[in-house]
Amino acid sequence: MSGIYLHIPFCKQACHYCDFHFSTSLKTKDLVIESMLKEIEMQKDFFSEKIKTIYFGGGTPSILSTHELEKLLDGIHKNFQVDAADLELTLEANPDDLTASKLKELSLLGVNRLSIGLQSFHEPHLRLMNRAHNAQESKECVKLAQDAGFSNLTIDLIYGIPAPDHSIWENDLSTALELNVPHISSYCLTVEQKTALGNWAKTGKFKPAEDEFAAEQFEYLVQTLKEKGYEQYEISNFAKEGYYSKHNSSYWQGKPYLGIGPGAHSFDGKKLRQYNVSNNPKYYKSILEHQKLDCEVEHLTREDGINEYLLTTLRTSWGCDIMHLKNIYQFDLKKEKELELEKMNQSGWLVWKGNKLILSESGKLFADQIASDLFL
Ligand code: SF4
Repeated sequence: MSGIYLHIPFCKQACHYCDFHFSTSLKTKDLVIESMLKEIEMQKDFFSEKIKTIYFGGGTPSILSTHELEKLLDGIHKNFQVDAADLELTLEANPDDLTASKLKELSLLGVNRLSIGLQSFHEPHLRLMNRAHNAQESKECVKLAQDAGFSNLTIDLIYGIPAPDHSIWENDLSTALELNVPHISSYCLTVEQKTALGNWAKTGKFKPAEDEFAAEQFEYLVQTLKEKGYEQYEISNFAKEGYYSKHNSSYWQGKPYLGIGPGAHSFDGKKLRQYNVSNNPKYYKSILEHQKLDCEVEHLTREDGINEYLLTTLRTSWGCDIMHLKNIYQFDLKKEKELELEKMNQSGWLVWKGNKLILSESGKLFADQIASDLFL
């Protein structure tokens, strides 16, 4: 499965928790798009097989006009072989950008999966996070998308926001379930240093939730979505049958992907990772003035490869294939990590399905810790 990710590095305003690469100034938008089109051309030999997924992420891709999105898609179709009949074409959108006419245009463009950044339905929490939309828009945008014919929808929700008790989170989740979407991604509010929340946490203006409070909300999320028929196919991702994200599943299976745009990453599926510069002017100047991509290339060592494979696959419901580790890296996990695996078994964190090592319900609560204990 081959996929292309396009990073649209623009947002209306800076969310207080966000440390992704984006700019709130749209002045350089045309130059960035022109450079992304050039980068698409420069990378045209990246894949030998057909493209199965295209993912507009960001930033806020829905900030672009349909015409701008169309130009980028045309660039991909001109330079790559795209499996048009079976393409998953996802666009991340914020609720405030989704009008009935915009949705219709996106559908005509071929977008067949929308990822909507709702985050919450609670107005004070949306204000705390400085989201550009309000609670009413959170509720209405999904219905608008469904009316426009989008059935493959996913929404993002944030838990672990400080609150006196869990009632706001419980309300958020039950409101989300009423929307009847087939996929939900949910992440804990993390306080990154170089963000407004990070600064406020330092000065005492903001007090993050306790780990235990966030863990209780995560457990409630997992339990509630399970009862409603969602499969937790990745720690933070829940889908009804047939609605896994094909694009993200590819990442988690270690498949190759190409990232286009400032701040985007690429992986050749073997040993090479490429990180495009996370700076809009540096990105477009290097391409437009020097016909060169400003990026860093990393050659993964055997150790990196093993550790990354463990970290990503142990978060998924299909688990870690120990034969893959043996065949690709000559790493015998059972032998090398016998003691650690034994301890984890005794804690009830592991389930073996043939050669697949999968985390149990309780193991999922410690997924990252378990992976790092198995690292080379
Ligand atoms: S809209 Fe998304 S990318 Fe932009 S600042 Fe908010 S969280 Fe970050």
